[in-house]
Amino acid sequence: MAEKMKKISNHVINCNAGPARVPYDVLRKAQEELIYYENTGISVMEMSHRSPEFDNIIRTAEKLLREIMTIPDNYRVLFVHGGGTAQFASIPLNLCPEYKGCKVNYAITGTWSEKAAKEAEKYCHVCRVTPKLDKFTSIPDVDTWKIDPDGKYLFYTDNETIAGVEYQYQVKPFSDTMPVAIDMTSNFLSRPIDVSNYGVIIAGTQKNAGIAGLAIVIVRDDLLGKPMSICPTILDYTILNKMNSLYNTPPCYPIYMTRIYLQWIKDQGGLEVMGDRSDQRARLIYDTVDQSNGFYYNGVNPNCRSRMNAVFRIGGQKGDEQLEKQFIQECKERKIIGVKGHRLVGGIRVSMFNAMPVEDAKFISDFMIEFMELNRK
Ligand SMILES: *Cc1c(COP(=O)(O)O)cnc(C)c1O
Repeated sequence: MAEKMKKISNHVINCNAGPARVPYDVLRKAQEELIYYENTGISVMEMSHRSPEFDNIIRTAEKLLREIMTIPDNYRVLFVHGGGTAQFASIPLNLCPEYKGCKVNYAITGTWSEKAAKEAEKYCHVCRVTPKLDKFTSIPDVDTWKIDPDGKYLFYTDNETIAGVEYQYQVKPFSDTMPVAIDMTSNFLSRPIDVSNYGVIIAGTQKNAGIAGLAIVIVRDDLLGKPMSICPTILDYTILNKMNSLYNTPPCYPIYMTRIYLQWIKDQGGLEVMGDRSDQRARLIYDTVDQSNGFYYNGVNPNCRSRMNAVFRIGGQKGDEQLEKQFIQECKERKIIGVKGHRLVGGIRVSMFNAMPVEDAKFISDFMIEFMELNRK
């Protein structure tokens, strides 16, 4: 059974953008413990979130995360519900004490940062620091950002999963009183970062660090204690922190999956290795695009191409939809799945998160070359 599963899983190259591929070894470990967790005689799914066994699971997850990311002691780690979406809605509720009385800064580089700004607009005065872009293919230079100095924080989305745009540097805080808040949902744990640059880091786990249902919040402790009066308790970082993420029943099983995933990342060599692999995978795909004489077209400025989501058209800049359909179909025949572009941008999107081995990106790039040779006009 295990061998068969391994074969099938090796065979299918899952490029889904999220929920996304989980490393085989992580699934295997979960499978081994699915029915009886250690010597408890029950499954993690059946366990009280206040039991010593679950306490051990969540504490180990936190310890591993702290170790992998070298999280400084003055940061708290929260395991929360609602995915990335609940968390970008929670940031203004936690960092702005006055309902509709605070200013906040947002850099808009794609669909996700736009959504985050829209949430913040419900409670704050949002200053869009970047010029309005027709299409999301570049990141306006930070020096040109029009940041409101009275803003409570500066928010940006590190990797825009739909546009395929990713910062290749960490945006530094504008001032001591304006922390940087960041959505890392789609490139979490994909390279080393300096956590101390940020006031708040949020990330849903279903792309690079686990399964759907869980988000992780890493928040500097001096930012706690000043939530907006209307902040729902379940979104209140101060209370969640006080309750060690157990204010209500947390997403227990996703937390358990993330614990296994974090152990896997550590065993693989940590974030340096995740970063190297991300670079190698992305290089394989983008090199193929760049050497295709326009057969494949990626319109993103090369200085901010996403290492996680390579988005491109086939048959020229506008894309030949027939050819793209054929590409998706032929991918399927080779058991490469999930490469259809997001409906907002069309074309092809190859998502390559932590769980994808470099060989799989090589397999995809080899297929891209073959497909080009057969279909070039
Ligand atoms: C997927 C994604 C989200 C949304 O995550 P949910 O868990 O579905 O809420 C938010 N931000 C980014 C950058 C994403 O890629």
